[in-house]
Amino acid sequence: MKLLILGAPGAGKGTQAVRICERYAIPHISTGDMFRENISKGTPLGKLAKSYIDAGKLVPDEVTLGMVKDRLSRPDCENGFLLDGFPRTLAQADGLKELTALDCVLNVDVDEASLLSRITRRRVCPKCAGTYHVSTLAGDTCPACGEKLAQRADDTEETVKARLDVYNAQTKPLIAYYGEQVKTVDGNLPPEKVFEAIQAVLEAL
Ligand code: AMP
Repeated sequence: MKLLILGAPGAGKGTQAVRICERYAIPHISTGDMFRENISKGTPLGKLAKSYIDAGKLVPDEVTLGMVKDRLSRPDCENGFLLDGFPRTLAQADGLKELTALDCVLNVDVDEASLLSRITRRRVCPKCAGTYHVSTLAGDTCPACGEKLAQRADDTEETVKARLDVYNAQTKPLIAYYGEQVKTVDGNLPPEKVFEAIQAVLEAL
C-alpha cells in the first residue's frame, strides 16, 4: 500500500503514522524525522535544513525531493510506504507523481484552535521518537523506553505560528490537488478512535 498522510502541524500525523506502519508493515517515511536525524548527525544536509526548520520555513523543494527520491528507491519501499510530512507543496506533489502513484491520501482534520495548544504542549522522545502531550504524562520520561523527554526546537509558539501559516498557504492546497483520492478523518477524536477511522478507510480500499 502506497499511502500519504496529510494534516496540519499538530494534527497527530506522526502518532497515526506509527500505528499504520506497524499494522500494515510498511516503512514510515517522515521527512521531518529524516531532517532531524541529519541535524543530529551534523551532515551537510542537516546543516542546510536547520536554518529553515528553526524559522518554521520549508526546506527548498529540490533538496527535499532529492532526499525522498533516494529513500523511495530503497528495496523496503517496493511493497509500499507511508509518506508523512511530504509532499508539502504543489511542486513536491508534482515531483512525487513522476516517481510513483499513491493508493490513498489520508487527511487528518483538526480544529485550528486546538493545534497551537497541542504542539506547544508536545514532548518527544529523543531515543524512540515517541510523541506525547504533557496532559497524558505522569513525569518527564518516555513511557515507552524511559528516556528523558524533550521539546522540539521548532515547537515554540512563535515558530508554530509560522508553521501553521506555511501549512495554510502551501500544504493545504494539496487536499484539492489530490481530489477524490483524499479520505478525511476527524483528528479531534482520541488517537485510538482516529486510528479506527483510518483502518476503516484502508480496509475499504
Ligand atoms: P515535521 O516533523 O513534519 O513537522 O517537519 C519539521 C520541519 O521540517 C518543517 O517545519 C520543515 O521546516 C521541514 N520539513 C519537513 N518536511 C518537509 C517538506 N516536505 N518540505 C520542506 N520542508 C520540510
